[in-house]
Amino acid sequence: MNRTEELIQKDINHLWHPFTQMKLWPEEPPLIIEKGDKNWLIDTDGNRYFDGVSSLWVTVHGHNHPRIKAAIKDQLERLDHSTLLGLSHPLAVLLAARLAEIAPGDLKWSFYSESGSTAVEIGLKIAYQHWQQVGQTQRKTFVALENAYHGDTIGSVSVGGIDLFHKVYGPLLFDVHRLPQPHCRACRLGLKYPECDLACANALDDILEKHGPEVCALVVEPMMQGAAGMVAQPKGYLTRLYEIAQKHDILFMADEVATGFGRTGKMFACELEGIEPDIMCMGKGITGGTLPLAATMANDRVYNAFLGDFDEFKTFFHGHTYTGNPLACAAALASLELFSENRVLENLAASIDHLEKGLAKIAALKHVVEIRRQGMMVGIELALDKEADEPYEASERMGHKVIMAARKHGVIIRPLGDTVILMPPLSSTLEELDLLLAATEKAISEVT
Ligand code: PLP
Repeated sequence: MNRTEELIQKDINHLWHPFTQMKLWPEEPPLIIEKGDKNWLIDTDGNRYFDGVSSLWVTVHGHNHPRIKAAIKDQLERLDHSTLLGLSHPLAVLLAARLAEIAPGDLKWSFYSESGSTAVEIGLKIAYQHWQQVGQTQRKTFVALENAYHGDTIGSVSVGGIDLFHKVYGPLLFDVHRLPQPHCRACRLGLKYPECDLACANALDDILEKHGPEVCALVVEPMMQGAAGMVAQPKGYLTRLYEIAQKHDILFMADEVATGFGRTGKMFACELEGIEPDIMCMGKGITGGTLPLAATMANDRVYNAFLGDFDEFKTFFHGHTYTGNPLACAAALASLELFSENRVLENLAASIDHLEKGLAKIAALKHVVEIRRQGMMVGIELALDKEADEPYEASERMGHKVIMAARKHGVIIRPLGDTVILMPPLSSTLEELDLLLAATEKAISEVT
């Protein structure tokens, strides 16, 4: 057995993979990724693959960026870890101050955790406890979108709207009110945009007319629902939700775990429609894709509800062991410096434009029924019959087949059902974007 074979054997014997039917693992010999080089991943046999989904949507400036590496190493020389319970450390402070500068509206307070799921879980607890402590104790529920994905913890699955997960974990979850998914091509309300006047957003008004006084917050991914299948929201949708939420005085909680840190072309997607959330969750790209870190931000309105005397017990009762880990904070600060120094957001417009133009060829393929894009986030939906909008049988696993074919063309991408996701690092060159598009086009043409 060579080294790769040995690793594969040990993987099969011991490693439980996420979201994976282990009985079928591995369907094909798995790639064991050993190195990163800018926007590329390299396996144990030295094969190079373009990282077409930014390693699950995290990589921003490319892998192993020397600047982020240096910041982590420098911090490691001084302090590996120290708690934020009763103590503080410089980089946790500086990062919180920097996030307050770049976050939309008057978000000012950062509560750290380690994953997008925990950032959402924390946001839910903060929203709930806020209302308990301002005397509106009847507020115990949330509004969220159909088919939404907000993470894997019990609270984040509850506000998530994925039927399958609710079927499996139902008894552990709490109920929330659901808004129809704003997916125009397959409009759940059978309407057409813009004549619909955003009926799917107006549904929030109906829910709040009936249940408003019981609702803590609206939870929504701004502009683009990512893991729900890359569902881009029509123009004005987010603004309408925001206006209705304000009218009924519920909290607006934006989940920017996927959309944050430049993915949509802005630092945060909320900026695209000038939304100022009360609570915002961020993770994934916060460290440039190097170390696990997440933050839940809140404005003064929310934060002030937690202030009181010791025996009032208004404290936020939450805190993970690794909350605000100094190495992760060092990585996040270095990543944010790179954003400014390299004018990442300013330069991104050319990449987004290039991506959009390149996608036109894929959109014309026989089995591509729709391409949904927001900035550098792309979903390519496949269908058996494009004209009749007839999907493939789920058992065909067409999305999976396409991404496996793309691998043979040197590109790693991921499917969400039959929607093929492209989410290249923001640092991708135009040539690399061409390669990603060409490999995806070939893969779709070969397999469908
Ligand atoms: N929220 C959104 C919008 C996400 O896309 C994800 C992950 O894909 C999460 C939350 C959960 O993040 P994590 O996987 O880091 O727990």
